[in-house]
Amino acid sequence: MGEADRLITILTKDNGLITAYASGVKNIKSKRGSSTGLLCYSDFSLSVKGTTYRVAEATPIKLFFGTNSDVEILGISQYFCELALTFGNSARSTEEFLRLILNSLHFLNQQKKNPYLIKSITELRVMATSGYCPNLIACDNCGKFIDDIMSFDIANGTLLCSECDNGVGRIKINQTIINALRHIVYSPFERLYLFTIPDEDIENLQTVTENYIEYQTDKKFTTLDFLRNIKRGTY
Ligand SMILES: [Zn+2]
Repeated sequence: MGEADRLITILTKDNGLITAYASGVKNIKSKRGSSTGLLCYSDFSLSVKGTTYRVAEATPIKLFFGTNSDVEILGISQYFCELALTFGNSARSTEEFLRLILNSLHFLNQQKKNPYLIKSITELRVMATSGYCPNLIACDNCGKFIDDIMSFDIANGTLLCSECDNGVGRIKINQTIINALRHIVYSPFERLYLFTIPDEDIENLQTVTENYIEYQTDKKFTTLDFLRNIKRGTY
């Protein structure tokens, strides 16, 4: 906005998404510059007049990712921002939602876990906490808890065992993926990131979480398309 001002979107602990004007942030000497930038966790003091918020003070707590970060990692972090923008006001707990996005950025930044596993964890947990929780307890038709291969129905968010699946429009998943999906949806937050799966299963896990989020929301995420292009090497 103009020479030195920004209109920023803040994901907050208690109030979901807030849009606020921040003035003087593009001034090179401005301390507010980094704290109101993308992917920065900051402490804000806001003034409000009518329905308009203005940033009175902003202090950075944690700035995620440097300018030399890997392009794929940056792509995933941009996608997390789009998820926050899409679901930030529909989460059942704005506090848990903020915690989820912050933890995902933290683990992505740390680069100790496969970034695409963190991506799937974030996608499915965001869905589960925003009114799109799949039912992964057992086969939706006969109640069988586990099978060597089960099918995930992206339209209904349900599982079917191999006997009950008639094979139309469903994604076949093995026990590793079934257990990973259950863990992401049902584990307490403290344990959410504490698991791993073999790299060869991550692609299939992503097929489930990406298809589910796009089908259920009927939305094309531009940052997800960008990320796919990076992976294909067409960026
Ligand atoms: Zn069944």
